[in-house]
Amino acid sequence: MRIDVISIFPDYLAPLELSLTGKAMAAGLLDVGIHDLRDWTTDRHRTVDDTPYGGGAGMVMKPEPWAQTLSHVAGLADPAERAGLTGGTDLAERAGLTEGTDLAEGTDLARSSDGTQATTASATDAAAEAGEKPVLIVPSPAGAPFTQADARRLAVRSHLVFACGRYEGIDQRVIDWAGGDFDVELVSIGDYVLNGGEVAALVIIEAVARLIPGFMGNPESLVEESYEDGLLEYPVYTKPADWRGHPVPDVLLSGNHAAIARWRRDQRLIRTQRTRPDLLAGLPDEALDTRDRQALTEAAREVEPGGPGG
Ligand code: SAM
Repeated sequence: MRIDVISIFPDYLAPLELSLTGKAMAAGLLDVGIHDLRDWTTDRHRTVDDTPYGGGAGMVMKPEPWAQTLSHVAGLADPAERAGLTGGTDLAERAGLTEGTDLAEGTDLARSSDGTQATTASATDAAAEAGEKPVLIVPSPAGAPFTQADARRLAVRSHLVFACGRYEGIDQRVIDWAGGDFDVELVSIGDYVLNGGEVAALVIIEAVARLIPGFMGNPESLVEESYEDGLLEYPVYTKPADWRGHPVPDVLLSGNHAAIARWRRDQRLIRTQRTRPDLLAGLPDEALDTRDRQALTEAAREVEPGGPGG
């Protein structure tokens, strides 16, 4: 999968070099390009923002640098038009994971630009061959809530592009214009407001990348995770069996696999009922059997006043 991230703070994306995403880049599962929006401005001050039409507080991100950068990452820009403009850094190259240009050492920007363009174009070609546009993800508190189902849906796409806004956000016309060449999605990572889209991009990239086949050392660890089937995960324990007077539930030491599976299922149901009743309410009827409903009824009774847990 090819991922391009556009930001005025490209260093914000450095954590992608760490841990499993870094390994996935080294293994060629992930190909990440980080682009500084200011590299695509043409004025002396490298301006990316201006005052809002209609008045009001704050600044709005200007459309043209976005159009230039997006055209570049989608392989749409005419290289001649790009003369004199830089074109982003391959993160694996920055991390020294592959051979290439190291921007930190101040090496040839044009060479870096060409290299990035070639990689981007091939990812875009692959997307085009699959009959797909690249996906343009615009993190925004006004976007649709990001869920595990979205992560699964995006994990099978070949090219994701993240447009990380700052200030009051990006001029709406960029989002409208990009619809011609990208599948555009406005995505929120929660009901709160961040300073910029970079942290949101990191969240979405991590959630998506770990679902790419080959990313996780043990794919089994994905199977029973929270949200995979609309339930939260059961509580987990490791050694010692008794820690500071807190024992591990007996059933987990019993060696009885059927009893352990039942206990875990019950814990998932009870936890979801208590923490995220909205998830439980959204499950289709057939998702719960009689034994599941019984576990939920018993758990609800336990927390009622006068009940065993009340
Ligand atoms: N004026 C915008 C509003 O009220 O909807 C908030 C802009 S916010 C200060 C700047 C940028 O942070 C946004 O353009 C977006 O990229 C990012 N951002 C902030 N909160 C976010 C969230 N909950 N999910 C995704 N991105 C967010």
